Amino acid sequence: MQEPIKLGKRDRKIAVSPEMADLCLTCGMCASGCPASNLVTGWDPRKAIRYLALGLEQDVVDSKWPWVCTLCARCQYACPMGIQLIKTFRSCRTARERDLVPGPIHKGTIMNFERGNNLGIPRDDFLFLLADMGPEMEEDEEWPCPGFYVPVDKEGANIIVTVNSKEPFAEPDDMKFWWRIFYAAKEDWTVSSTNWEGVNWGLFSGDDENWKIQVERVLENARRLKVKTILYPE
Ligand code: SF4
Ligand code: SF4
Repeated sequence: MQEPIKLGKRDRKIAVSPEMADLCLTCGMCASGCPASNLVTGWDPRKAIRYLALGLEQDVVDSKWPWVCTLCARCQYACPMGIQLIKTFRSCRTARERDLVPGPIHKGTIMNFERGNNLGIPRDDFLFLLADMGPEMEEDEEWPCPGFYVPVDKEGANIIVTVNSKEPFAEPDDMKFWWRIFYAAKEDWTVSSTNWEGVNWGLFSGDDENWKIQVERVLENARRLKVKTILYPE
């Protein structure tokens, strides 16, 4: 005979409403439109919520579920009881030991904390690349932009732009799409020479502390350069 499931203690780590067990109707509306519900993982939002409501938190934290859930919010929009599914599932990411966070996002978060961008691109390499790409834009055969240069650390610009480190690292030409728009619009913009990363992996890895640090750094760049508008192209 199968052993009965032992329910976990009710001292919760996950930030869920204590009334959730009573509120959830098990109606399945959350699962009906969820792109991550499937037979491969064996999980769906209703099942995860039921586990959490029963105190089986560690089962959810140790599972693939918090990482295959895209945090898209369709479930929360559909839930008739107003259950905070997004906050709940992201809290499951936060509860995972950092060394067990899947993929590169924890490593990138630490790299960003230590070196100012997710891929550890040195400041000088970044500045050299930007300087080198100005003439490329000027001489482009299809869309030449005479006089173009990348305005780094320009005080009082209208917009400060963050950068996805993947672009200077592997696909620098992708930065040109925004630059052409700025050029055509005669926009007054700038990019910071430091802490310019625009992809906050602390958000996705559940690392609240580093999430906050990165946001503060971007804000600090805007304050230092007296720019009022921050653009996150990501
Ligand atoms: S939609 Fe809301 S009430 Fe219905 S099963 Fe999902 S979490 Fe529970
Ligand atoms: S947030 Fe997660 S659980 Fe909710 S619908 Fe999106 S993928 Fe599914």
